[in-house]
Amino acid sequence: MTVKKIGILTSGGDAPGMNACIRAICLTAEHAGIKTVGYKHGYNGLLNQEFIELDPTRVYNLIQRGGTILYSARCDKFKQDPFVELAAQNLDANNVDALIVIGGNGSFRGAAKLQSVWNKPVVGVPGTIDNDICGTDFTIGYHTAIQTAVESIDKVRDTAEAFERIFLVEVMGNKAGFIALNSAIAAGCDHVLVPERFTTAGEELVKIIDKLDSRRKNKKFASLVITVTENLWPGGLNVLADSLASETGVDVRVLTLGHVQRGGSPSSEDRLLATRMGTYAVKCCVDKMQNIMVAEAQEKPIAVPIEKSWLEKKNLNDYTVEILDKITLLG
Ligand code: ATP
Repeated sequence: MTVKKIGILTSGGDAPGMNACIRAICLTAEHAGIKTVGYKHGYNGLLNQEFIELDPTRVYNLIQRGGTILYSARCDKFKQDPFVELAAQNLDANNVDALIVIGGNGSFRGAAKLQSVWNKPVVGVPGTIDNDICGTDFTIGYHTAIQTAVESIDKVRDTAEAFERIFLVEVMGNKAGFIALNSAIAAGCDHVLVPERFTTAGEELVKIIDKLDSRRKNKKFASLVITVTENLWPGGLNVLADSLASETGVDVRVLTLGHVQRGGSPSSEDRLLATRMGTYAVKCCVDKMQNIMVAEAQEKPIAVPIEKSWLEKKNLNDYTVEILDKITLLG
């Protein structure tokens, strides 16, 4: 049976470039004579039969818009088998021949569950700012999130410098240090704390204070900016700020970037990545591939087993870590 209708949904944390991906899927499908429908609010849309018909006019002028026109959501019910079966029945009732899920590794677990009860292609496309999905060089939204973090850190550095303060900047990452590491390097930060290299709070504090002391004695700097992955420091970043302030006598401030990192117009890298991945996802559906996630290696789209996204941990790039140690003030 040929594929005549593809369903699309966006699930989990939203990421800039999701709309660009929806657009690419819709346009590629249209060229191949395939209809597309967008399910709203993640897996909830499958359960509630809440969907919209997509066509080229619906995705016109969309590539540059952040967020997702399909809305994203968590759907706890989807973790229970009867609801996964209901979703499969609803897809059949709507004559959908393949489903593309744009989201993170939680969303892909849901996709794999659906695949186990539905004998039509379910294809994952990695859309998350955290870049924490193993098997692909990059995920949709990651480059934009770094850019947003860098712009904010550049600004905070000005005020840090003016008042000779230490700033601790908390960025997103969901237990992975990709955003913190790369935004720290791009913004010329003085130190970075990421889960992959974190030992204990006590050891990390001693390391920072030792380096700070020697630098301050040599009067090599007046202010400092340290980038930290969210939820990393036990008790939160204010605890680290208090410890640093009392040990050094320097004014220490905390800046939490939070959800601004998810927003904004996608960068050109994310638009290109989303477009390449979206067009390839349609090919995977047409080729009737099952249990796969679209990924990229050296700008070439590939299909990888979807379970790789949660079974294997993606490591930081060794060379980037090496660079960090050479160029940061506290390295
Ligand atoms: P991000 O990491 O960017 O937040 P994510 O896709 O990992 O994205 P999650 O909140 O982990 O985000 O998952 C999104 C949704 O995927 C859940 O609300 C649920 O609907 C579905 N999901 C997650 N884990 C499972 C699972 N084990 N079984 C079935 N569905 C799941």
